[in-house]
Amino acid sequence: MKIFPVLEIPETLAAGPGPGNTDPRVLDRLCKTGVADHMQADVLRGMIEAKIMLRELWGTKNLYTFGVAGTGWSGIDSIHGAILPGDKVVVFVNGTFSSIDSLSIRMKASSLEDLAADSLNPQPDNVVVIDVPHGESVTGEIVEAALAEHKPMWAFMAHWETGSGRVNDIEGFNAACEKHDVMGLVDAVSSLGVGDFDIDDYPGIVAWASCPQKGVLSLPLTYAPVSFSDKVIDVMKRRGCYSFVHHPILEARHWGIINDEDVQAGTYHRTHSCYAVAAFHEALRILLTYGRAQKARDYLFHEAALKQAVSAMGCDVTSNMPSLVVLNLPGKLAGQEKDLVGACRAENFGIWPTLSEPVQIRIGILNQLTVEAITDIVGRFADAMLKMGAEFDKQAIMKGLAEYYQAG
Ligand SMILES: *Cc1c(COP(=O)(O)O)cnc(C)c1O
Repeated sequence: MKIFPVLEIPETLAAGPGPGNTDPRVLDRLCKTGVADHMQADVLRGMIEAKIMLRELWGTKNLYTFGVAGTGWSGIDSIHGAILPGDKVVVFVNGTFSSIDSLSIRMKASSLEDLAADSLNPQPDNVVVIDVPHGESVTGEIVEAALAEHKPMWAFMAHWETGSGRVNDIEGFNAACEKHDVMGLVDAVSSLGVGDFDIDDYPGIVAWASCPQKGVLSLPLTYAPVSFSDKVIDVMKRRGCYSFVHHPILEARHWGIINDEDVQAGTYHRTHSCYAVAAFHEALRILLTYGRAQKARDYLFHEAALKQAVSAMGCDVTSNMPSLVVLNLPGKLAGQEKDLVGACRAENFGIWPTLSEPVQIRIGILNQLTVEAITDIVGRFADAMLKMGAEFDKQAIMKGLAEYYQAG
């Protein structure tokens, strides 16, 4: 048997759509936490405190607000679990992630026959997928027209589509859900902790899911924040859900939510990691101390700086997302987006291409909210473009960036 050497992973500049870099304080909690089982009093207390912080972060009084162990898709699986075979659903797709959301929903809503017909990509008639072109946002008018026509039980949208870097119209989505008495489900994976919104302002949306490693900045495999309204919990109580592990009513018990009440200590649902609980708890403390509104302002401010700098290099920015800039390369570099990303990644500058057509470049600023960090990103990107033959004056670009920050 071969024994591999110790796995060394370098420190890279995480400048993509996610994960963002993790605060040293979060990593410190991960590795300096003592071993304690999942029913130890401080672990249970940490989960209850995290639950309370999550209600603050989401801006909600929803009792069923907690973290689902795993990644964004784990939280999303938990909210999509409300959908049962045969349910009528309208899904809005405008990029890679909402497209995967659509697959997850089609799997949940499929009959046995639908699944058997194409098990990895079922197409049940009861799910209507509304395709919005890459680079465009889902608007309130699009949602209104689709819900008026199809009158579904559920509607789904990504709040911010990270694939194309587009902010979708959450007000319009909520209004149409309320008007047509449809239960809205939302993928808020890339907006929680970056945008400043209270989910209680959107009563037409009954369940929300996010992830650990984007705005919440707690990558060391921790928790996907979720929140369910009483309305959808009642539906799930009445109809059930084909999951033990992601059943919100069962999963919430470990977070001290039992029989529709907050209790002093949770009961066993599965083995939670003391390390993950401590890291997640610290990430939430950091975020709430910084302040949700302040953070949202800072993302907008630094995203505008990055956007201005890459536009000055001749790039065409097609995104409108505060944590991410999606762009096409100019002139003779057009079409070489993948190569440029590859060259940057080889130097531990972790930007990304889009994952579905058309190929574009994505540069993210999660947890890079300083003048120094943005200047570093702009400088590295300028170098990479120049190396590929772009023609601009790097000094002028850097000067423009400095002037933006001086104007403040
Ligand atoms: C990142 C992302 C996901 C997937 O999250 P994982 O943590 O990779 O499971 C889903 N939806 C959106 C909108 C995302 O940005």
